[in-house]
Formats: sequence, structure tokens, C-alpha cells
Amino acid sequence: MKLSLVVPCYNEQDNVELFYEECVKAFENVGYDYEFVFVNDGSRDKTEEKLKKLYNEKTESNITVVSFSRNFGKESAIFAGIKNSTGDYVSLIDADLQQRPEVVIEMIDILDSEPEYDCVAAYQAKRKESGIMTGFKSGFYKMINALSEVELHADASDFRTFTRTVADAILEMGEYHRFSKGIFSWIGFNTKYIPYEVQERNAGETKWGFRKLVKYALEGITAFSTKPLRLAIYLGSFLAFAAIAYLVVIIIQRLFFDASFSGYATIVALILLLGGMQLFCIGLIGSYLAKTYIQSKNRPIYVAKEILKR
Ligand code: UDP
Ligand code: MG
Repeated sequence: MKLSLVVPCYNEQDNVELFYEECVKAFENVGYDYEFVFVNDGSRDKTEEKLKKLYNEKTESNITVVSFSRNFGKESAIFAGIKNSTGDYVSLIDADLQQRPEVVIEMIDILDSEPEYDCVAAYQAKRKESGIMTGFKSGFYKMINALSEVELHADASDFRTFTRTVADAILEMGEYHRFSKGIFSWIGFNTKYIPYEVQERNAGETKWGFRKLVKYALEGITAFSTKPLRLAIYLGSFLAFAAIAYLVVIIIQRLFFDASFSGYATIVALILLLGGMQLFCIGLIGSYLAKTYIQSKNRPIYVAKEILKR
């Protein structure tokens, strides 16, 4: 049995060596083979040198280093890592030591002893984030679960271990806009969720600012649901009915009650409302169209400039 550790790295110069050491320590007595598949996602710091150094010096370990030609994002890095892995089990783990390698051993034990599971995913028992962030995240999961056909576990991270069959299924998903959580859920299989305690980041800083998270959330919704597209139909029909009803009221008032109207404010308000809704719906359609457009170009999910492999 062999395990592949897929490690996306973006500006992790101060973490990769320690990460390697910690893994070697943790896996010392496990009794199975393991390999590292580091993906350098176009880092701007010394991550690439550090990874090459590991590759050249730690010849006793099985190390693969995939270097991207630029930053393609964690989702692409995960894809490349899985693609270049050869293990019977594949683990996705971050380079910043927020996720302990010991948990991977726990995951493997579960996959071995409970064959009904194909995948073990870790979720954060306690979130170490601000209350606002937690609120936004739980709101997002409620929304995406209501909108899309995939069911997402609110606290589950990308930190997970799965069998080769699952890995192949993930690679089959050739979409350019990759929303991992949706992909994991869409492919099915039996997933066991285990709690884990997220550690403080060892060095460097998180790449997920608020704006990036909002973008990621929108990405997730439009990648796995087409329901928002139907919003225009619902909104439009609701407004049309409202308009007809209002018209009837006006006609009745005019004919039977001799009311006079000065409609300036109402008209301006209505124009703004309708214009706003139309723009909103056009924008929505546009965001789907943009995805189709990019996908139709059939661009690769990543471009590797170098793959070091023994
Ligand atoms: N990462 C990556 N490409 C990116 C952003 C992040 O490969 O564009 C990697 C990063 O090096 C780390 C993992 O993804 O190993 C998780 O990133 P981070 O620690 O910033 O996220 P957080 O743990 O704060 O959610
Ligand atoms: Mg992290």
C-alpha cells in the first residue's frame, strides 16, 4: 500500500522544510510507503528553491515537485498533484502545518478498517475565526445547499484522504472552474467526516482575504447550480402580474372615483427598480456565459514548467 501526500504550496518558503520533517517524523513507523507530491503554484518567494533542495537532498524520500508557470490557484494545484500521484490512497494537505500529518494516519486507519468508506474528510471541530467570518460562511453553505443539487458539509475542509478510485473520478472532472467542495460532493462515494483541530499557521499568511472568499462563494454557486438563471423568469413574471394588478386598480380609480394622478415619483422609482433587476439578471446570465466561454476554449487547468520526479 502506498500513500500520496498532495501538497499545494503558494509562497510557503518558511513552511515546506518543516512540513517535510514533521511528515517524516509522523510516518516513521506506519509500515506503508508514502510519497510527497509538492505543487509549487507559481510562488513569488523562495518556495521553488526550497522544494528543489528537498528533492535533491532527501533522496531517501519519494518526492515529486510540480512547478507551475504562474499562480493558478489551489484548486488547480490539487488537480495537478492528484494527477502526478501514484499512491493507492491520496491525501490533500496544506503546507502550512495547520493540518497535522497525524490526522492523515487516522484517516488511513479508517479507510483500511471500514471498507464501506472511500473517502475520509476532516472538519474543523472549532473554527478559529472571527464571528463575522463564521456567520458569512454558514450563510454561504445554507444558500448553496438550497440552490444546488450537491450537498456540502458546512465545516469540511479540503483536508481529506481517499482511494485511487475517488482520485480518478476527480481527475475525470475536467472543468476549468474548479470548486473542489462541489466536485467532492458531486462525484458521490461514501465519505466519513472526522473532527480535527486546526493549528495556527506555522509561517507566512493566509491567502484567503474576504474578497477572495466572496469570489470563491460565487464561483461555487454558479459552478454547481443553474437555479439563479431562472431567477429572471420568477422576478419577471412576478413584476408582470404586479403591473397588471396595479393597472386594473388605476383604471377602476379613474373611472369610478375620478382620482387624478401625478406619477412622476412612482415612474422614476419603477424605472430604477426594473432597470436594476434587469441589469442584475443580465449580469447573472453573463457570469454563466463567461464560464461557458472559457470552458469552450478548452484551456488546460494548469501549465507546468517543470516536473521533478524519480
Ligand atoms: N495555496 C495554493 N495556491 C493559492 C493559494 C493557496 O496552492 O493560490 C495553498 C497554500 O500554499 C496552502 C493551502 O493552499 O498550502 C491553503 O492556503 P491557506 O493556508 O492560505 O488557506 P487557509 O488555511 O487560510 O484557508
Ligand atoms: Mg492555511
